[in-house]
Amino acid sequence: MIPLAVPNLSGNEVRYLQECIETNFVSTVGPFVDRFEESVALLSGSVDAVATSSGTSALHLALVASGVGVGDLVVLPTYTFVATASAVAQTGAKGWLLDIDLESLTLDLDQVREAISRDCIRTASGLIHRRSQSRVKAIVPVYTNGNVPDMQGFRALAQEYDLALVADAAAALGADCGGLALGSVCPLSIASFNGNKTFTSGSGGAIFGYDQTLLDRARHLGSTARRGRDYHHDAVGFNYRMSNLQAAVGCAQLEKFEELVQRKREISAFYDRLVAGMAGVSGIPGGSFGLSTRWMAGIVVQDPTRLTAVRMSLEQRGIETRAFWKPIHLQPPYQSWVRDSVARSEWLWPRVLTLPCSTSLADKDLELVGRTLIEAMQ
Ligand SMILES: *Cc1c(COP(=O)(O)O)cnc(C)c1O
Repeated sequence: MIPLAVPNLSGNEVRYLQECIETNFVSTVGPFVDRFEESVALLSGSVDAVATSSGTSALHLALVASGVGVGDLVVLPTYTFVATASAVAQTGAKGWLLDIDLESLTLDLDQVREAISRDCIRTASGLIHRRSQSRVKAIVPVYTNGNVPDMQGFRALAQEYDLALVADAAAALGADCGGLALGSVCPLSIASFNGNKTFTSGSGGAIFGYDQTLLDRARHLGSTARRGRDYHHDAVGFNYRMSNLQAAVGCAQLEKFEELVQRKREISAFYDRLVAGMAGVSGIPGGSFGLSTRWMAGIVVQDPTRLTAVRMSLEQRGIETRAFWKPIHLQPPYQSWVRDSVARSEWLWPRVLTLPCSTSLADKDLELVGRTLIEAMQ
């Protein structure tokens, strides 16, 4: 069996875990948590980083720290993993779902700008979406599959309308934002260290960026909002801290940062070349606002009815495949959220097939997947 995407735990993971047990530092305070935060800050070019229990908790915390709350409206792409939407919903806000462009697969800046100027009115209490009478509070661009959104444009737009900006960069650690560091293009961004991401801490996340005040607030709220050593808490907080055990695994993973990102890009480039000559098939695009991390590898087909047979013949030979994200507006809890045209997301999602892309995948297995895919597509 060749799995889709499994962790690559070939470094210091066991040694660091052993160290946690031997030193009795297994909980949310410990040297690996500090080291992990320093590494994430350094590797993303951020002023600081806050480690969390998951990417989803990082996103929820970043939104709350940015002032998003009950009754607000948050702009996000409908084409994303469900966690982007659930984090918004958990704040008590609602989402305003917009579309992606089909080159970067990220939130379409022009559409967001047009929708705001058409559907909103500026008032003393902020930007109001007329139909829902809700205050628009934030924009959440998503680094789809590690692809870079037009962050310069979103920063200018957020500034123009005084909106918070939080980027879901769950699988984008290692992306280059057109010559700028990932952590330097957004006040707060989040990464995930779930088991299927390029780097894992078992489960885990991080908030990073250039706004030290917001990062301090996130750290405070994420660790029960305690002031001092005694039991005084000055806000409604969360227990969203990463444990030293998780951070130990995360630190070992980040030691292989360059190597793992590089391998992901190689695997995607392999599939891109493989299908380059095939009619009606392409690789998953990486966009041109920056250099993508190419988290998941796979193909996009013009005719979605081809995929059932392809998937079956690959599975028969022990090669795992999977669809990719189903848009948020098609998920039961979010069907009532306001939305603009989402035609491109609706076109895309049934046409994507993801293929084995573990960083531990051997070249001979990659070639086997390639040969099998070519046969299955004929
Ligand atoms: C993986 C992912 C998340 C969630 O991260 P978890 O660590 O699984 O909570 C959020 N958003 C996107 C875009 C993701 O890919």
